[in-house]
Amino acid sequence: MRPFEYRRAEDVAGAVAAVADHPDAVYLAGGTNLVDHMKLGVATPSLVVDIGHLPLDQIVELPDGTVRIGATVRNSDLAAHLMIRQRYPVLAQALLAGASGQLRNLATTAGNLLQRTRCVYFQDVSMPCNKRDLGSGCAAREGYARYHAILGGSAGCIAVHPSDMAVAMAALDASVVVTGSTGERSIRLVDLHRLPGDTPHRDTVLTHGELITAVDLPPFPFSRHSAYRKVRDRASYAFALISVAAALDLSDHRDGAGGPTIRDVRIAFGGVAHKPWRATAAENFLRGAAASVENFREAADVELAQAEALNDNAFKITMVRNTVASLLADLTRRQVGDIGGDLAGQEQKP
Ligand SMILES: Cc1cc2nc3c(=O)[nH]c(=O)nc-3n(C[C@H](O)[C@H](O)[C@H](O)COP(=O)(O)OP(=O)(O)OC[C@H]3O[C@@H](n4cnc5c(N)ncnc54)[C@H](O)[C@@H]3O)c2cc1C
Ligand code: SF4
Repeated sequence: MRPFEYRRAEDVAGAVAAVADHPDAVYLAGGTNLVDHMKLGVATPSLVVDIGHLPLDQIVELPDGTVRIGATVRNSDLAAHLMIRQRYPVLAQALLAGASGQLRNLATTAGNLLQRTRCVYFQDVSMPCNKRDLGSGCAAREGYARYHAILGGSAGCIAVHPSDMAVAMAALDASVVVTGSTGERSIRLVDLHRLPGDTPHRDTVLTHGELITAVDLPPFPFSRHSAYRKVRDRASYAFALISVAAALDLSDHRDGAGGPTIRDVRIAFGGVAHKPWRATAAENFLRGAAASVENFREAADVELAQAEALNDNAFKITMVRNTVASLLADLTRRQVGDIGGDLAGQEQKP
């Protein structure tokens, strides 16, 4: 490991100044991703600024009903918080689907958002990787790409963003509050991470020294009708092959086909792109449509029309479609149950 200087930040302004002044300085939060990368030689900072003691570890409700999550709130604490479990179950479920109990006790909200891809070639400094070493090539394109992107990839990089939490936050229309040397700004979470294009070494739109201080979850009436589903190689302690976060708002009105109609819907995919993928085409297809498994599948197909897969990861297209259909069908059953109906006979096709 390259020798580095360690500093503990006493306040936000001091943390930002310390990192902004050093081109290769980084923030240290829980360290569960950064320290691994320092040991592997993937990250070689000369200065590490520890933000673990900044007063950013609270979850509060703002006067307009927005829930503000401090950047250093631990993943375990966030998942266990009553307000999150009741109002945003999709977020609690996504957090609990990630990593392990021990890791979640250390991992922070901002660190989780800014964790780097798990592409095996990115983590192996002996392999070509444009994200780690721009211009060196992309070993995944001709190599092991089972976990890689089917949406929004580029010739230079097909890595996916590994966070579960970020997918739920994308579906919830979250915003990230950021402080830099020129002041504070708010970024929609769906705009925080980038597609790789020809600059895959940049994961996000943050500039050097910008510190995430909080994530805001706006209130919306059907956020409690939300859920997360992750498909992975093992039942626990594994990153997503794909995942789907969704929130569904059904009308009481029954259409001719016997089902309720969809007033509003939020859908995001994980494990498919360089960023959490908000499925706006699928959402647009579903608004006003009948809540049927056929429509859920078709909505997924509309979104996936732009998918580009390799041999290794072509299975993800079917997997996303089936997961969208089964998750939305479950959310429909739960709500129809609430208002006294059911969706009998609308099981998923094999
Ligand atoms: C074995 C293993 C399994 C895992 N499985 C999963 C999984 O299934 N799903 C999942 O989602 N995650 C998984 N993770 C990843 C884990 O969730 C992340 O490592 C963790 O969330 C990172 O948070 P941290 O606070 O430790 O970040 P750190 O490692 O401290 O930092 C990560 C990055 O964020 C930057 N950073 C941190 N805080 C800030 C801030 N406030 N402002 C600006 N930059 C900041 C750091 O400089 C660094 O670049 C797994 C990790 C391991 C080791
Ligand atoms: S997919 Fe991206 S991260 Fe993986 S080897 Fe290619 S350039 Fe590197």
